[in-house]
Amino acid sequence: MPKSPIGGMYESSVNPVLELAARILGDERPPVPPSLRFTLDFESEVWGTLARLWFRTRGCRHTHRGGCAMCDYWISSEVNPSEMIASVREGLSKLEAPPSTLLLNTSGSFLDSWEVPDVARREILKAIREARPAAVTFETRADTVTEDKVAECVAILSPARTAVELGVESTDDWILRFCVNKRMRGHDLRHAVNIIVGRGAIAVANVLVGLPFLSAGEQVADSVGSISDSFGMGFGHCVLLPVNTKQFTIINWMEERGLYARPPLWALVDVLCRTDPSLFPRIDIAWHRPQPDYHPSYVSRYRGPETCALCFERVAGLFDEWRGSREREALLNRITSLRCECRERWDEARRAAHTDLRTRVIQAYKRITDELLGDGVWDRVTAPFTAMMPEHRIRGTAQ
Ligand code: SF4
Ligand SMILES: [Zn+2]
Repeated sequence: MPKSPIGGMYESSVNPVLELAARILGDERPPVPPSLRFTLDFESEVWGTLARLWFRTRGCRHTHRGGCAMCDYWISSEVNPSEMIASVREGLSKLEAPPSTLLLNTSGSFLDSWEVPDVARREILKAIREARPAAVTFETRADTVTEDKVAECVAILSPARTAVELGVESTDDWILRFCVNKRMRGHDLRHAVNIIVGRGAIAVANVLVGLPFLSAGEQVADSVGSISDSFGMGFGHCVLLPVNTKQFTIINWMEERGLYARPPLWALVDVLCRTDPSLFPRIDIAWHRPQPDYHPSYVSRYRGPETCALCFERVAGLFDEWRGSREREALLNRITSLRCECRERWDEARRAAHTDLRTRVIQAYKRITDELLGDGVWDRVTAPFTAMMPEHRIRGTAQ
């Protein structure tokens, strides 16, 4: 096999174009200051209160080399283990009662020892157990999941149930590589899920609606397929999230140039309407409202689903009820009965014809290369990389 002109990347999941673009944009990020040690907020759920506790780490390992096209979970300077433990303890001390779920967030992966050293992870788990939540959920990349780490989490947290969230985004390998730059494939996910479930924890799939480079119809079809695949792989739960645009990301850069449009809340409705209702009790919705932004150095706010001001509150309000509802099929019927002109515009966009996906991606890469990556990158990197990009059609879309 001829040697790749871009350093053996042909056979892997690496995307040198999006990686470079993400690094250039991400380099502009102001780091989280050491003074922001943790954040804590609450949401109600069926069984009680979900407490969301974030603590400062240096950030996702993948984001330090570029990262995913839509993600900015912040970066920071290196944090020593004792500081992380103290931050979590301080956050937990603010709880007035044991929460039904403690959602532990970092700026990346809780099981990555480069981000959260082993000693910190163990002490944090012990501190959480003392807070007596009924369940604990944390997020981590699939490649950080090991038998030993999951077994240890389950043992320390018991009797609380352990749930491990994986950022699936899409189960389509082509999309993960050419649209997201996730550096992950379906077999990595399957391997991680087998470990999580085998060790007695619950595997939760985070599936996105609104991935870049896809048409509106493709976005919906991909999310529907990814939910179905995730349950087929053994995930016990799924969280469906509409993409929010965050500053310093590729999708932010694309959105500013008309190359990307955030999906409206109607995209969530369309995905759910095409999903088996028997799965609804195991599907949650998040990010349907713009998220609070605690980072003191970020000027612009996160931008959430693009739904018009006339109907946003009505639709978002019904999605607020989703987490606490036991009658989700009836709730979806109430949402689908809502009408608005913006929904008609979305329906038209979803049905619109487009050029084939590969051509669209290459055209967007051309803009990204010319306007962001600089001279010579097209010839050296983008052209040879796109030359090996196969044709692709999203499952569930018309020929
Ligand atoms: S989506 Fe996950 S893996 Fe990708 S950059 Fe963000 S934290 Fe890292
Ligand atoms: Zn509307």
